[in-house]
Amino acid sequence: MKIYRARHGGFCFGVKRAIKIALEAAKKAEGVYSLGPLIHNRLAVEDLRRRGISPIEKISGIKGNEVVIIRSHGVAPDVLRKLESRNCEIIDATCPRVRRAQRYVQKLINEGYYVVIIGEKDHPEVRGLFGYGANHATIYKDRHKIKKKKLGVVPQTTLNQERFNSAVTDLMSDAMEVKIFNTICRETALRINEATKLAEKADIMIVVGGKNSANTTRLYQICKKLKRSHHIESAGEIKRSWFKGAKSVGITAGASTPKEQVDDVVRKIRKVFPQKKK
Ligand code: SF4
Repeated sequence: MKIYRARHGGFCFGVKRAIKIALEAAKKAEGVYSLGPLIHNRLAVEDLRRRGISPIEKISGIKGNEVVIIRSHGVAPDVLRKLESRNCEIIDATCPRVRRAQRYVQKLINEGYYVVIIGEKDHPEVRGLFGYGANHATIYKDRHKIKKKKLGVVPQTTLNQERFNSAVTDLMSDAMEVKIFNTICRETALRINEATKLAEKADIMIVVGGKNSANTTRLYQICKKLKRSHHIESAGEIKRSWFKGAKSVGITAGASTPKEQVDDVVRKIRKVFPQKKK
């Protein structure tokens, strides 16, 4: 079985950085919280919990005076204010690229634009960006409901380029003026392009990552359109029957998948199909 492993599968720069920051904080303080799971990967979150980093869903669950990590998605300014009012020590691991998008939202508002954020409305990054909009922003859904003529546009960093292009074209058909900051992160495009290439050449595809990870699910959907594909969280889910008639397998992973989980998948496939000695 020939294995093609994606070079750009697994943790992106922002996630790697957030985990490093969180682990350093956990070494110094006894028990730290992350506001929401640090990554959308169940097994990795369990591992972080063992190392002293507990995810907490809502600020209401924080009594006060705790160490709280802001994950790579960032948060709205009012969330930071609430944490400060509870005397929490805030460790901000917002990805610098997300932080830049937040600054663009602020800048557009200061320049008098009505900001349209393009992305998934319930995604934490989008909720954070929207929070920087301070009542002068909306999340793109229907251009007919946006009555403003001077629009500023900021996409979610993990948005796919086609969706961004079509939303911008739509918005431009009504507005007098549109100022765009393209904050789509290169890491997303790299993963999508590479997964597409692998799915074109391999006989089957395996996408590794959390079922709750939007970017992993998107990679899976892209691969599925091209080849027989499977989305798994761990190597234990692999079935021999998937490989029937296949001579090669492509393996990719979302931006929130630890390298070790992909290593396990490679090892498992090697075990099922040992390489012949030359
Ligand atoms: S995908 Fe890009 S913007 Fe988002 S956390 Fe990763 S590096 Fe940062």
